[in-house]
Amino acid sequence: MIEKGLLIVLSGPSGVGKGTVRKGIFSQKDTAFEYSVSATTRKPREGEVHGVDYFFKSREEFEDMIANDQLLEYAEYVGNYYGTPVEYVRETIDAGKDVFLEIEVQGAGQVRRKFPEGLFIFLAPPSLSELENRIVTRGTESEDLIRSRMKAAREELEMMELYDYVVENDEVELACERIKAIVVAEHCRRERV
Ligand code: 5GP
Repeated sequence: MIEKGLLIVLSGPSGVGKGTVRKGIFSQKDTAFEYSVSATTRKPREGEVHGVDYFFKSREEFEDMIANDQLLEYAEYVGNYYGTPVEYVRETIDAGKDVFLEIEVQGAGQVRRKFPEGLFIFLAPPSLSELENRIVTRGTESEDLIRSRMKAAREELEMMELYDYVVENDEVELACERIKAIVVAEHCRRERV
């Protein structure tokens, strides 16, 4: 029998750098896990490719996926839907490969309920003021929006205790190495003969 792969979920507050860390992990040649491409109703940013960065969907298409139970989890974030197509995740795990999700915290909570055997990693900012700094220096947000993002981030930080591991994102390369080491350790822990 094939040993099932691990479902690895990387989550954390808005602005913590989940996307950067995920790209760091997948730019390394020795990374052995598969990336689960999400579906979203957000418009592609410059350079983003359908099927690589996201499956870009209309609202109607996305709502059909919800109605047909095709998503492992989904959430609405800043006016757009984001969700994980369930079939790819199931097939990959059943084939004995690890699959990696990079999602916001509401969605991670849904995955936790459906897939408690997953490996849940929380990416944390070095401090709350550092997170504010990152949200502000992104430069795209008004003061009101910054305030509401900070409030959301504080609430999201409280979710930390529900995760198996917390990785501080003080330096991207270090965070990537820690995550990969956690996955190796988790295999050793689970696959005892
Ligand atoms: P962005 O629009 O910057 O690519 O992503 C916005 C947020 O959506 C990020 O926090 C990202 O982690 C999250 N996200 C991306 N894909 C998914 C998904 O499939 N499900 C959920 N719940 N969140 C997602």
